[in-house]
Amino acid sequence: MFKYYLFTPGPTPVPPKTSLAMAAPIIHHRSPQFATVLAEVKENLKYVFQTQNDVLILASSGTGGMEGVVTNTLSPGDKALVVRAGKFGERWAEICKAYGVEVLNIDVEWGRCVKAEQIAHGLDKNPEIKAVFVQAHETSTGVKFPLKEIAEVVKKRETTILVVDAISALGAMEIKTDEWGLDVVVGGSQKALMLPPGLAFVCLNEKAWRFVEESRLPKYYFDFSKEKKSLEKNQTAYTPAVSLIIGLRENLRQIKQIGLENIVKYHQRLSDGVKMAVKAMGLSIFTKENPSEVLTAVEAPKGIDAQMIVKKLREEYGITIAGGQSQLKGRIFRISHMGYTDEHEMVMTIAALERVLIELGYELIPGTGVKAIQQILLQK
Ligand SMILES: *Cc1c(COP(=O)(O)O)cnc(C)c1O
Repeated sequence: MFKYYLFTPGPTPVPPKTSLAMAAPIIHHRSPQFATVLAEVKENLKYVFQTQNDVLILASSGTGGMEGVVTNTLSPGDKALVVRAGKFGERWAEICKAYGVEVLNIDVEWGRCVKAEQIAHGLDKNPEIKAVFVQAHETSTGVKFPLKEIAEVVKKRETTILVVDAISALGAMEIKTDEWGLDVVVGGSQKALMLPPGLAFVCLNEKAWRFVEESRLPKYYFDFSKEKKSLEKNQTAYTPAVSLIIGLRENLRQIKQIGLENIVKYHQRLSDGVKMAVKAMGLSIFTKENPSEVLTAVEAPKGIDAQMIVKKLREEYGITIAGGQSQLKGRIFRISHMGYTDEHEMVMTIAALERVLIELGYELIPGTGVKAIQQILLQK
């Protein structure tokens, strides 16, 4: 018998109090009760996004929010600059293509980071580019993008917006939407916001809303103007994911109470511990530049299939971590420390990882990784 643990970069564990709140009998979405819930959620989302602008709440996975940004801000034949530094950068390019947006890619080796100068160079060469699409954190490689610097570059141009996929970053990393001048920020429910999958969030500033007014791509369900009008009345355009939003209210209260700064520090602490542990075990961190505090991406030792590590942890130890995506499948595994995840769980995960590696023939003295993470966690 074993318990079930989930340390993947989406979905993440849901706090029990939140699960209980979501189990309450359903209420009607046009009732005053629900409007009260939405009003509170609306305010607290602004806190998490660090913005004064409203954050739209959509019933879809994060990708729905990404698609909505493309169809609501661009027109057929527009040009977009996409940073492809991993799986999710590729997704921006695929969505743009699907809607007839011309894509110029900045390809970055997986595991490395884009530089703001590369974006400046791309925009100088093609000043007609309407939007720059990036990640805050590329979940497939564990790389954190220099958002503030990138925003400095895009901010100078009246006719270009910066669109940030912060789906795996919001609520774990520092994202200063207004202060940094991020024009569009997309979030999702099942990452550091500690909810089941099913909600996407999109925040647009004034500059981005001007793009929405001029956008001519086809849209119906994801119509941001309609959603904005509804949200002003504490409603959504269509039937919202009522139970998820009630769960969100719980989590946002928690986040606000603990404070974003403390939450970011906590993620850094877990990340430092896990990274130190895997290094002590003789393993290499896959992320070559700007490793994030959201997850730790690790190269499997020579001769061991990373998928085997993932499988054994799941099937024999009850611990679900993530493997590599696309070209990284079999080469890396990813331990998420985002959201409702604590120190003891990370010590336990390292302990289980030690056993799995030894069982797979890797030479290791048991306790090597555990000792390293404990040493980090002992530092107050
Ligand atoms: C998880 C994730 C997505 C995709 O979200 P879905 O909810 O699976 O649609 C997009 N971007 C990043 C960076 C992610 O981590």
